[in-house]
Amino acid sequence: MLKGRTAIVTGSTSGIGLGIAEALAGQGANVVLNGFGDAAAIEDIRARLDARSSGDVRYDGADMTKPDEIARMVGEAERAFGGVDILVNNAGIQHVSPVEEFPLAKWDAIIAINLSSAFHTTRAAIGGMKSRGWGRIINIASAHGLVASPFKSAYVAAKHGMLGLTKTVALEAAAHGVTVNAISPGYVLTPLVEAQIPDTAKARGISEEEVKRDVILAAQPTKQFVGVGQIAALCVFLTGDDAAQITGASLSIDGGWTAQ
Ligand code: NAD
Repeated sequence: MLKGRTAIVTGSTSGIGLGIAEALAGQGANVVLNGFGDAAAIEDIRARLDARSSGDVRYDGADMTKPDEIARMVGEAERAFGGVDILVNNAGIQHVSPVEEFPLAKWDAIIAINLSSAFHTTRAAIGGMKSRGWGRIINIASAHGLVASPFKSAYVAAKHGMLGLTKTVALEAAAHGVTVNAISPGYVLTPLVEAQIPDTAKARGISEEEVKRDVILAAQPTKQFVGVGQIAALCVFLTGDDAAQITGASLSIDGGWTAQ
């Protein structure tokens, strides 16, 4: 379905981004992987996805806090493949702390990686999409783009911002064959969620088991985590012709969390 298309997926060495990159590669797209991690492990991922795709899978280690590295990554992908058709802004980090104790460096890093990087990738890639008359930008926001939870001020602010960016760019691109949407997942059991369990326990003064039961899954009426593959499948759908009239939307995949 995506043979001849090229996708960049930021933060795709782990979790949701990796699942999305895998699904796009499975559809035949050229994929640029991005994110941090052990070099040998990343090469294993790249080789596995490359074998899965009829296209070419590459890795670019651009740091999503650095606008010049982001512009370089998009430029190199355009030169290598003739254009970037699908941009998935997925890289993200989390920090859990009361606002009055929130470390300044953590605030800056979360805003940079979870929000500003999507502006920088979009700014670099959208001109080519518009000129070719086809493009898909998919921003991985969160249920926390729609509702808040305590102790996540930077993350909630960044994800609300992501939805504003999505809507604005969707309007700018609408007449050019380029759709811009956000996927807003509930809790997915990835390293990002596993890492915040101890800090949430500390901030709320409860055990880690209580965090999983009474905080995390309490938010989701289905009482189940969202699956990485379920998000990846929605992403693939958004790249297809049947999704051509979906733009400027936030598509929730959150077990009913934000219906409450
Ligand atoms: P994860 O920790 O498994 O993966 C995060 C990815 O981002 C990794 O590949 C990491 O290397 C990369 N990354 C981090 N800092 C980076 C930087 N400076 N430059 C480049 N890459 C960087 O996390 P995940 O749970 O898969 O989260 C992916 C996205 O989904 C995030 O935007 C997150 O906010 C969002 N999300 C996650 C959940 C969840 O429950 N896990 C829910 C809603 C939204």
